[in-house]
Amino acid sequence: MSTSTQTRNVPASELKQRQSGSPSTGQSDRGFKEGDGRNYQAWVAKAAKQPMVLETVDLGPLGDEDVEIAVEHCGLCHSDLSVLNNEWGFSQYPAILGHEVVGEVTALGPNAKGLSVNQRVGIGWNSGSCMHCHQCMSGNHHLCPQVQFTIVGHRGGFASHIRSHWAWAIPLPEKLNLAEAGPLLCGGITVFAPLAMYAKPTDRVGIIGIGGLGHMAVKFAAAYGCDVTAFTSSESKFDEAKGFGANHVVCTKDSAALKKLAGSFNLLISTVNVKLDWDAEIGTLAPNGRLHVVGAVLEPIPVAAFSLIMGQRSVSGSPTGSPMAIETMLDFAARHNITPQTEHYPMSKINEAFARLESGKARYRIVLDADS
Ligand SMILES: [Zn+2]
Ligand SMILES: [Zn+2]
Repeated sequence: MSTSTQTRNVPASELKQRQSGSPSTGQSDRGFKEGDGRNYQAWVAKAAKQPMVLETVDLGPLGDEDVEIAVEHCGLCHSDLSVLNNEWGFSQYPAILGHEVVGEVTALGPNAKGLSVNQRVGIGWNSGSCMHCHQCMSGNHHLCPQVQFTIVGHRGGFASHIRSHWAWAIPLPEKLNLAEAGPLLCGGITVFAPLAMYAKPTDRVGIIGIGGLGHMAVKFAAAYGCDVTAFTSSESKFDEAKGFGANHVVCTKDSAALKKLAGSFNLLISTVNVKLDWDAEIGTLAPNGRLHVVGAVLEPIPVAAFSLIMGQRSVSGSPTGSPMAIETMLDFAARHNITPQTEHYPMSKINEAFARLESGKARYRIVLDADS
């Protein structure tokens, strides 16, 4: 992700889900043995804030409903850094991070459905869910109380191989540039989902924060046909935001500019994790407008009842997305040639890549390419 604190954004959903713990789906709770494996290599974090080391890892027998994937590329999301540093207090070590995986199916459990060996698939923030609860049965697998995070209590994608439940290994459209597709699987779906749920092509949409998430949001909203305004505190991003498809760019610190926009937007998507002038932001919503939060700002967002009631406005949030939502997003991205702007590192330089992410200088997402 990128320069300002804006880009240290964690989808709020990820935090919420983390707070509810990391229940097992049964498919990913096997022992995590090291050193006696079968040529599976993984970058392992032994403890919080420690550099990762390459080790041989035994993934055990493949679960009946699981698939195994040889990792080709894996995006580096700020949440990987947060779990490495145990910022949320529930990391499990040893940890194998990486949850924006692109790779090729190498093995299928006997009950894995809909996939074939050699197929290209992607895995995002989640890699399993119970498949029988109300949420799973209604197509909202990402809201399953037992959803399995890919990098907590499960081995992630900074490795030669990764496994997931078949439903969470999402087939990648052939037209998609696989080397750039990784960040779509977490950051991309996080910002695409609210557009798909709430935006119409005729809408005026504001994207708050132009970083790892926000720059993809601008691209999606522009391709959707919306009139897009990018909000950023970093003037150095103004031109780039326009390059991503923003029709207008506004400095978040410019309260006079915000005032002029009063009553303008049908949908605002906030990707930042810093405190903003929320009153002014909500004031830019048109009647029936919605402020939708996907960046995990930790301080509460104050909302005046009157500003919601009088304009019939809403404030909402959402997590990453269901397998079907991810598939739809990938199809849309392939159709419109939407890929994130990335910096690539060979996976063997993983610790350098994490340092680059931590420096806040990456524009806008980092992808690690398998090289072992
Ligand atoms: Zn992520
Ligand atoms: Zn479920």
